[in-house]
Amino acid sequence: MLMGLPGAGKGTQAEKIVDQYNIPHISTGDIFRAAMKNNTPMGLEAKSYINKGELVPDEVTNGIVKERLAKDDVDNGYMLDGFPRNMAQAEALDQFGAELGKPLNCVINIHVDPESLMERLTGRYICRNCGATYHKIFNPTKVEGTCDRCGQHEFYQREDDKPETVKNRLEVNIKMNTPLLDFYKKQGILHEVDGNQDIDKVFADIKAVLDQIN
Ligand code: AMP
Repeated sequence: MLMGLPGAGKGTQAEKIVDQYNIPHISTGDIFRAAMKNNTPMGLEAKSYINKGELVPDEVTNGIVKERLAKDDVDNGYMLDGFPRNMAQAEALDQFGAELGKPLNCVINIHVDPESLMERLTGRYICRNCGATYHKIFNPTKVEGTCDRCGQHEFYQREDDKPETVKNRLEVNIKMNTPLLDFYKKQGILHEVDGNQDIDKVFADIKAVLDQIN
């Protein structure tokens, strides 16, 4: 199972892991988005929670993951992403994972300190004239204050990227993750990886953990 706060690079590393090990990527968020797109009964139910920014009820979410883990294509391994999100889900997973003979045996937390995450997540700015997107650290304009694409000088920040919003999102996630990290630490299956390194080095560290387990 892959964990990491928003901006820690979880999405990037998730792709690399499933590529390297050729295992299914089980993302509850992706499953819900697909079900909503196809207007399935589960999708419609999930939509009413997701649109309010709430978690989908545990009975629904646990059922989906249990069904997914029962399939043959996960016999050689799987990667969970976005599940479990709370203790009730973690305990359910312990139970059905064992029942199915496919228990969770490794949790990787990509750790980046919250101050760096604030920098990463609030750094995006957009040209008011042409919509070109930049980032203070990763992709600044070539000439400060001038859009590379259209030459205009006015920029804005998306509501989602404003410091207060980002701070709140990080706090909510820290609160959510802490009990899970404690739980898996006690089980002895938690591995912390330093996410404050370049992408390939983070992946090399993840691979070292996974190769040791397999
Ligand atoms: P994500 O892409 O992982 O951020 O998921 C998008 C949305 O799907 C979340 O904001 C939740 O509403 C819902 N969701 C995803 N995973 C879970 C989960 N494990 N438990 C409850 N709701 C979830």
